[in-house]
Amino acid sequence: MMKAMTKKYATDFIDIEHYRDLAKQKQKENTKFLIALKKKPPKQLDKIALEIHQEVFSEIDCTKCANCCKTLGPLWTEADIERVAKFLRMKVGDFEKAYLRVDEDGDKVFQTMPCPFLGSDDLCTIYEVRPKACREFPHTDRKKIYQINHLTLKNAEYCPAVYEFIEKLKTRQK
Ligand code: SF4
Ligand code: SF4
Repeated sequence: MMKAMTKKYATDFIDIEHYRDLAKQKQKENTKFLIALKKKPPKQLDKIALEIHQEVFSEIDCTKCANCCKTLGPLWTEADIERVAKFLRMKVGDFEKAYLRVDEDGDKVFQTMPCPFLGSDDLCTIYEVRPKACREFPHTDRKKIYQINHLTLKNAEYCPAVYEFIEKLKTRQK
């Protein structure tokens, strides 16, 4: 997809690189916008952000993208590990040994990316029990969205939905 989305995708392809370039081009402008949002959040911000989040995800089909599953990957909580290991009928220790590592911040993350549970059809093979971080990504339905400005800016380079979310939010603030 080579242009900003105003309607549901008509193609089977989301041009991730194009979105990443756009996000990089607009990084300065978006940083300024989000800082201003934090300084003076509008009264209805949570409502507006939720509306935009819903609008964006009614236009974007994640199954045609899966870029978060290919590039970012979740942080694993102990509850995630237990739930997924059980689902796969594996012992927790074996599961961790097979799939996870501890990163420089002490967080449990995948040993390799793309996510080993991403199917060849770009669908999640453990969808019902997927980690909490996967369920919550890209966090655009959060209250007080300005509290995660740094994350939103970073995610805009990986997630077309976040890029669109910021663009729409800017329009609604004018
Ligand atoms: S959440 Fe974002 S990066 Fe992940 S699949 Fe959906 S649009 Fe793509
Ligand atoms: S567990 Fe599923 S939703 Fe999470 S990164 Fe892997 S494929 Fe994506």
